Amino acid sequence: MKVRKYLPKLKLADYYMGRDREYHHELTPELRANARETLRRVNRLLKRAGLARKISSGWRPAAVNATVPGAAKGSKHISCLAIDLEDRDGALDAWCITHLDVLEAVGLWLEHPAATPDWCHLQIQPPRSGNRVFEP
Ligand SMILES: [Zn+2]
Repeated sequence: MKVRKYLPKLKLADYYMGRDREYHHELTPELRANARETLRRVNRLLKRAGLARKISSGWRPAAVNATVPGAAKGSKHISCLAIDLEDRDGALDAWCITHLDVLEAVGLWLEHPAATPDWCHLQIQPPRSGNRVFEP
């Protein structure tokens, strides 16, 4: 019998990081749908990878994003299309790089690990380049 490790699923509340209260008016039905889809795809990926990860950055209302050092002005975190997962040992980034077929099947794009030393940035919308692994 194959014993599967229990992997807790990432939840919407963790993705919103409590910001759904203060910025309630900005969290439109479209953004909520994006957040659900982001978590659905990322949970599938983590299950395939057999890795448990915490969210280091989820939804960023524009005002919050503006205070994040190095964050792009049009960051996909603003529209709930992107997520950052804690990845201090780089194991998730490394797994993604060697499983681009899974990223494609699940529908995720990865920011190049060289640009994300302690975390892993994934998004459900292709970058302008269309590359599965992209430069910020
Ligand atoms: Zn990110």
